[in-house]
Amino acid sequence: MILCSNPLAQYLSRKAQIDEAIRRVLDSGRYVLGPEVQAFEEEFACYLGISFGIGVGSGTEAIHLALAACDLKTGDEVITVSHTAVATVAAIELAGGRPVFVDIDPVSYGIDASQLEKAITSKTRVIVPVHLYGQPTDLDVIINIAKRYHLRVIEDCAQAHGALYRGRKVGSWGDMACFSFYPTKNLGALGDGGMVVTNDPELATRARLLREYGWAERNISSLPGWNTRLDEMQAAVLRVKLRDLDEQNAKRRRLAQFYTGALQATDLVLPGAMEGTAHVYHLYVVRSRKRDKLMNFLRDRGIGALIHYPVPVHRQPAYQGRIDGAGRLDETERAAGEVLSLPMYPELAEPEAQQVVAAVLAFDGGQYD
Ligand SMILES: *Cc1c(COP(=O)(O)O)cnc(C)c1O
Repeated sequence: MILCSNPLAQYLSRKAQIDEAIRRVLDSGRYVLGPEVQAFEEEFACYLGISFGIGVGSGTEAIHLALAACDLKTGDEVITVSHTAVATVAAIELAGGRPVFVDIDPVSYGIDASQLEKAITSKTRVIVPVHLYGQPTDLDVIINIAKRYHLRVIEDCAQAHGALYRGRKVGSWGDMACFSFYPTKNLGALGDGGMVVTNDPELATRARLLREYGWAERNISSLPGWNTRLDEMQAAVLRVKLRDLDEQNAKRRRLAQFYTGALQATDLVLPGAMEGTAHVYHLYVVRSRKRDKLMNFLRDRGIGALIHYPVPVHRQPAYQGRIDGAGRLDETERAAGEVLSLPMYPELAEPEAQQVVAAVLAFDGGQYD
């Protein structure tokens, strides 16, 4: 079976270093928010070219914490997309916000910035653009609109560690940005983890306090916070993996180039390269009107293609009928019916990549509709 993503292969490719890092933590006696977390916060912020990093328990919690640090109040509106991991929307509701959906651009899969303004009301406080699949979204337009309406921008970078927009890393553009270190992400832990980053010292301080019961000093809560701490073991593992994140992303890009070259002549819609951006291919997502048949065809041949995501958030049982789309969500609905993610991870060997391509070509050349 060729998996869609493969965290085990990542671990095995650096087993000795990771085992050593875990051993170091085990022997240290510090297991949560210690020197490893602090070092990783500094190293990751430095990698991104940002001043402050605040390690947290997950990507969902990173978004929740960033919104709380921006002083979101119950009922404040937060604009985002419905074509995303449900986590984006769950985090907005955890922070007391009301999600408002804008349709996506069908090429970048990011928010359709041309429809953003009409979604803004007197209650709008924050825009959460998502750099989906590793493709940076159109930040310039979004940030300009946010400035004009005095809104905060919190980037959801959970799928875009290391991606570039106009030569600068995503995560360094908004007021704050949020990363997930779920094991399958471009930078993945061996468990859960996340980080909030910002250049604003006040937002950084608020986030840091809120992360641990609002403590400025131990056992004295100066803000009503909660607990979303990052543990030492995950931070130590992430420090090992951060060292070759760029190399890993380059491998993903090479695999994407191979797929794109080999599948050019098929009926599939292949990922489009957006000008002025460097995609990091968290996922390699193609589109087909025969998506379900193609997926089953690939699965029968041992290829684990997956759908990200089969049901838009506004159609999920927990959210249906509760959340407004500012206008129609036609591209969102169309994407959900057509997208398919082919196997994509840095350790995927060439013969396996060739096997994926051969199977897609066999489907494309056959009469399977
Ligand atoms: C993974 C992901 C998250 C949430 O991260 P967790 O660490 O799983 O909580 C949020 N947004 C997007 C776009 C994601 O892909």
